[in-house]
Amino acid sequence: MKDQTSMSQSPTDTKADPTETKTDPPDSEDFTFGDWTVRVTKSHIMGSQCEAEETCTADTTPEHLCNFCRYEESCPFPHCQTWCSLTTLLQLRHREGGTITFCALDALRCVNPKESSLQVAHAAVWREARADCQGAQKVVEPYDWTYTTNFRGTLAGALRTEATTERIDLDKLKVREEIKFYSEVYLYDDELDDNGCTRCVAKVRVMPSGIFVVFRHYLRVDQVLVRINDTRLYSPAGASHFLRESSTRQAAISDLRVPASVYTNPDIVWQHLPVVEETVDKICAAGSASV
Ligand SMILES: [Zn+2]
Repeated sequence: MKDQTSMSQSPTDTKADPTETKTDPPDSEDFTFGDWTVRVTKSHIMGSQCEAEETCTADTTPEHLCNFCRYEESCPFPHCQTWCSLTTLLQLRHREGGTITFCALDALRCVNPKESSLQVAHAAVWREARADCQGAQKVVEPYDWTYTTNFRGTLAGALRTEATTERIDLDKLKVREEIKFYSEVYLYDDELDDNGCTRCVAKVRVMPSGIFVVFRHYLRVDQVLVRINDTRLYSPAGASHFLRESSTRQAAISDLRVPASVYTNPDIVWQHLPVVEETVDKICAAGSASV
């Protein structure tokens, strides 16, 4: 059975082709539903060197930097992901102008700046294997080599957050209904040098009953653990707010009584992982009454 609450529609089908040339313009799509417009922009994979026709220099203004140089400028970690797109995004825009945005750079900025306590020996092997990757030559402080992010979306404009006791009714979301709009975007992805997987994906589904978004970071370190940081957002039809629920679920692979085909599939395994941490709030358009 399809897992409607995490939107398991074959993620590899729509994954952007990494062979896309850098000159392809981003492909953007808008879908308006009530007070909200969903924008999905899919763009090319970031290269491993400056992408500008005329190489960026120290004088290039931040807004004119190419993707690669913008990453180097604003991300504290070396670019070692095999797949990363800075111009790909999923955005929810309220008619009054407030936005909730999911993009790779903001997600990477929320990676733990301290070294992961996870399997240090394992990490050392991985880092050694990556010694020739871009950026490894520059001196960097230890960072979380798993690229685990606790990113929950970037809020801008006239939106405010407030505490709530409401919860997203996941059972209701399992009920099949018409899909008016569906899309998913890959923000970054890496196989940790064949030691597992770290992957950031955002998905959106618009149904007659409302808008549902899942932003997920999936981490699997083979023989060690599986961790999923999910942020789910739901806005009932006609509402000017989103309920936002974030959770960290994690288990040692040795504690998981499921076959490898389950723990290698983030859309299935999350239900088998115990919740370690949870944060719930409500994002409201500033001018609207809280419903
Ligand atoms: Zn550049």
